[in-house]
Amino acid sequence: MSGPEATSADPPLVVLGAGYAGLTVAQQFSRRTRGRVRIVLVDRHPVHVLRTELYEIGRIARAGSDVSAWVVPLLAVLERRGIEFLQGTVESVDLRARRVRLDHGEVEYGMLALCLGNVAAYFGVPGAAEHTHQVYRLSGAQRLAAALRETERASAGLPGERRPRVVIVGGGSTGTELAAEVATTDWRRVAGSAARPPDVLLVTGALPFLAGFPPRLVAHARRILGRSGVMTIHGFNVTRVEPGRVFLEDGTVLSCDLAVWCAGLEAPEAIRSLPVPHGKGGRIAVDPTLEVPGFPGVVAVGDVTEFKDPVSGMLVPGTAQAALAEARVAAGNLVARRQGVPLVPFTYRERGVVVALGLGQAAGSVSRVTIWGSPAALLKHAVEREYSRAVERGETPSLI
Ligand SMILES: Cc1cc2nc3c(=O)[nH]c(=O)nc-3n(C[C@H](O)[C@H](O)[C@H](O)COP(=O)(O)OP(=O)(O)OC[C@H]3O[C@@H](n4cnc5c(N)ncnc54)[C@H](O)[C@@H]3O)c2cc1C
Repeated sequence: MSGPEATSADPPLVVLGAGYAGLTVAQQFSRRTRGRVRIVLVDRHPVHVLRTELYEIGRIARAGSDVSAWVVPLLAVLERRGIEFLQGTVESVDLRARRVRLDHGEVEYGMLALCLGNVAAYFGVPGAAEHTHQVYRLSGAQRLAAALRETERASAGLPGERRPRVVIVGGGSTGTELAAEVATTDWRRVAGSAARPPDVLLVTGALPFLAGFPPRLVAHARRILGRSGVMTIHGFNVTRVEPGRVFLEDGTVLSCDLAVWCAGLEAPEAIRSLPVPHGKGGRIAVDPTLEVPGFPGVVAVGDVTEFKDPVSGMLVPGTAQAALAEARVAAGNLVARRQGVPLVPFTYRERGVVVALGLGQAAGSVSRVTIWGSPAALLKHAVEREYSRAVERGETPSLI
């Protein structure tokens, strides 16, 4: 690497968050600087969570406490690249003092990558945070899986023909994938032979079903979802949630055994509280180079950012695929900043998108070609498997 040589006394590049964005920034920066600059990767967990697979709630319920299929342990992966790992929860960042406060002490940085992902947004809906489950985090998915298992175990004792009912709020890809998975899981394998299959209601709210996805994909998804028995309710937002009841704005009250919130995301508090330009949900409105405006050498990558693509004028979606693409450019720009050479703007080109629809079914659009059914499901699984294997090998793969 040209430019100033780092010494071990120099403050390191600190990367906050070891998800899709943070792990890739750390690995790419290490590769480009050939391990000559200290890198500290901070996360609250010592594992990289395969978050794109957390809709697999039937499998998670079967796996019980063994979540090894949804995580990659970080230490072995990072050791290969000489990246240090610091386990801790980020509480706040002081961008002027170049210091990060953790739940146990502080870390100083020379350069910084903000990659803390996002958290569920409840939009002030009373009871939503308290009385719904979510699959945005592994711990949430595990809790939902355990609750589903219990509900299914108890279903044998329900009066008459009654089945358990699961209400899923949010008709984007997470809600849709989860609804299909809950509806098509063989719960008798999980909860005993007397378990009754659940009724699944997907409440899309005021937004259309799978808003923003290609129309042909949406049409296939709607058909496959309907075939799996999922009922969809369109047009009305949720106004309140109580234990066992979800209230809609038209006055409808949906009784249920379990409610799941897949209705939206926002930046975590440590990001929202930064004195920088913010977009929707407190995301950081980054410069075209992915730097945080006013703070050279600080990048924000992945779900914490709001980025309008200068070519298409569209907002880059909050996906792992986009996070990985951004991370490569951000790592290059951190190196460029050290070397004092011009930074490169980020532009986004989506490789494709595939929505899982339960039991070997999916619908997708790859290079503008629509695919559906089992070929789409096979593609999704192959891509996910290749991603986790590549991470284990210490590589920085792509994803759709
Ligand atoms: C069920 C589901 C299915 C999805 N399917 C797809 C898909 O098919 N394709 C796709 O491209 N995208 C998909 N996504 C979206 C994708 O998962 C996200 O866009 C992606 O995870 C964003 O990466 P990130 O690195 O920004 O955030 P994350 O992957 O969430 O990483 C954030 C990291 O920061 C850590 N962290 C957060 N707060 C703190 C703190 N205060 N202190 C310390 N550490 C902290 C977390 O532990 C985590 O490791 C899906 C999401 C879900 C929930």
